[in-house]
Amino acid sequence: MRDGGREARWWTRDGNRIVCELCPHRCRIAEGQAGRCGVRQNQNGTLISLTDGRYLTGHLDPIEKKPLARFRPGTWIYSVGTAGCNLSCDFCQNWELVHMPLDRPGTRFLSDDYILAEAAREPSIGIAFTYNEPLMNYENLLRLSQSAKARGLETVVVTNGYLNPEPMQELCPFIDAWNIDLKGIRDDYYRRLCGGHVAPVLESIRLADATGHVEVTCLLIEGENTADDDIRDLALAVAAINRSIPLHLSRYFPAHLRKDPPTPLPTMFRAREICAKILEYVYLGNV
Ligand code: SF4
Repeated sequence: MRDGGREARWWTRDGNRIVCELCPHRCRIAEGQAGRCGVRQNQNGTLISLTDGRYLTGHLDPIEKKPLARFRPGTWIYSVGTAGCNLSCDFCQNWELVHMPLDRPGTRFLSDDYILAEAAREPSIGIAFTYNEPLMNYENLLRLSQSAKARGLETVVVTNGYLNPEPMQELCPFIDAWNIDLKGIRDDYYRRLCGGHVAPVLESIRLADATGHVEVTCLLIEGENTADDDIRDLALAVAAINRSIPLHLSRYFPAHLRKDPPTPLPTMFRAREICAKILEYVYLGNV
């Protein structure tokens, strides 16, 4: 990615490195380098958000596509995304956008004003930040959310929830609804398949639930996170926060590096049965 963007927040200096404090990776970034998300770069001793002011794509989507089942059902929302993600899931379904070079000739960016205008245009109810990992563009997302709320628009974030608690707490009051991925309940699963840890995600779900509407999505991959105990413990962890949080169990299909066959339907139905004994609302996706 080329140099550019705007100065980021949530960082400190350690010698000639920058320590980014936005997410639990806490990358120590050398001059000229970017952190693991690929979009926060040390430029001359300052942390720059390369995607600030650079949303790459915007679409009007049904709210159910986020997925949100119990927030403003039947409505549409203007949905934006750009490059960058701080996890490295081998089953990523948006790999091309997440790794899209920002300096590709002819690339046009969506300005804040354009996004706000589209978000306010009928039938859109507001802005959904989605497609890539939207929290990596934290400063832009916060700015747009504050403007959207001031205009009476709804704000939605679809995220992996892998953020530190302090920035999460700052953002929460400006977000009406969240869909947060809880990819599995075992830390080993998060480390092997996603390059992260489960505890910060549970904390993000807890913080988001304290101020807004939250739904959780878990992609079920046969043999990886589909044992009865794994499914039961995941549902129990969500219920420990709030048993009214809707859980979306999404069926895996081959994507990016992962080629094994789609998760069998009987596994999906069994998982729903287990979770429905624990949580109030359980939905199947991709079946
Ligand atoms: S936001 Fe990016 S640069 Fe910052 S700690 Fe996370 S992965 Fe590293």
